[in-house]
Amino acid sequence: MTGRKPVEEICSDLIRFDTTNPGSNERPAAEYVAAFLADLGLEPAVYEQIPGRTNIVARWPGRDPELPALLVQGHLDTVPADAAAWSVDPHSGEIADGYVWGRGAVDMKNAVAMTLSAVDTTVANGQQPERDVVLAFLADEETGGEHGAGYLVRHHPELFEGCQAAIGEVGGFNVTPSVFAISVADKGLRWYEVREQGIAGHGSMVAEDNPIPKLAATVDRLIAGEQPLAVTEPMRALATSLAGRPVTAAEDVLDVLETRTGPFARMLAAGARNTVNVTMTGAGYKENVIPGEAWARFDCRYVPGFEDDLHEHMTAGEATLLRRSPAAWTDHDGEWFTRMTEALAHELPGSTAAPYVFSGGTDNKWFQRLGMQTFGFTPMLLPPGYDYPAMFHGVDERCPVDALQFGARVLAGLMSR
Ligand SMILES: [Zn+2]
Repeated sequence: MTGRKPVEEICSDLIRFDTTNPGSNERPAAEYVAAFLADLGLEPAVYEQIPGRTNIVARWPGRDPELPALLVQGHLDTVPADAAAWSVDPHSGEIADGYVWGRGAVDMKNAVAMTLSAVDTTVANGQQPERDVVLAFLADEETGGEHGAGYLVRHHPELFEGCQAAIGEVGGFNVTPSVFAISVADKGLRWYEVREQGIAGHGSMVAEDNPIPKLAATVDRLIAGEQPLAVTEPMRALATSLAGRPVTAAEDVLDVLETRTGPFARMLAAGARNTVNVTMTGAGYKENVIPGEAWARFDCRYVPGFEDDLHEHMTAGEATLLRRSPAAWTDHDGEWFTRMTEALAHELPGSTAAPYVFSGGTDNKWFQRLGMQTFGFTPMLLPPGYDYPAMFHGVDERCPVDALQFGARVLAGLMSR
């Protein structure tokens, strides 16, 4: 027996709430989630640090409350969408051609819908989860989570009492027909700035000391070439699963990730080295004035364990740190990884799961503060040719209906077994 509402319709409903961040708020979507859970007999509670930036948390009692609890978390906000570039209204939630379309369809209203659907089905079958499951639907992930996971972890840690593991984005999808990738780590973030000083003067004369070419040379030096490989155990394990033989040498790992994972190659390769990207520059205020200063800003991401290498590289170019966000790391040889692998194999017999390092940051950084093991696990069985990584923050973001139904079944299995 399945629940009362198909998962794709839940996803579509959620997309129709505009939760653009920055620019909108999560409250209407949060109210929908709270009403959905209350109808199933759960007791959702509302938490807001500032009005409208709404978080919903519910503890779903398990058959054995003595077992360590599981946190299932997802964010309700999305990044903005430029409607002019889309072939559908980004907030239509249209269901067509086997997909649910709209902003948030993969990041991550899909996972919120799968979670609600899994609860719905479990309750409809008269079942209870094996252990306490804490369900958290969060605000503000897309700008760092200060009003969402950050607020709850700092001010309401009691909500997560007993939670040993947390599942959220980004992972649990298949990168080949039979190998699923579950993220066990998020890269950390460091933003830097370089400022070059010069001597201001008239644009008609021979320049004494123009800071713009100096800045150009510094930027060039900092972004030239690629950062050295930073291959960690999860990436070796993933490459080994993909190749069907032990893969340990860093170059081999990268080669396997890049040649055997189709559209996932770009994302997976970024998990195997630090990255340095220049994203903003500025100088000058008039065509005939040589400016006295020029600046550039950099978005840099480091693999857990390789933060010092990144910092050395950047400070050698005289960059100063503007902002840091920690990496997240969980060992993949524990029982939770096994449980997720089994939940996937139950729905797709013969499949395996391997760990990987996610190239971006997620709310995992907050939940790790409470000592939880964190995993990217929003399970989906993706069809061949579907470019899932391109959907994140992309134009015509859409999620296969079949993948949502698969994910809801996997989550129901993971929670109830
Ligand atoms: Zn997300």
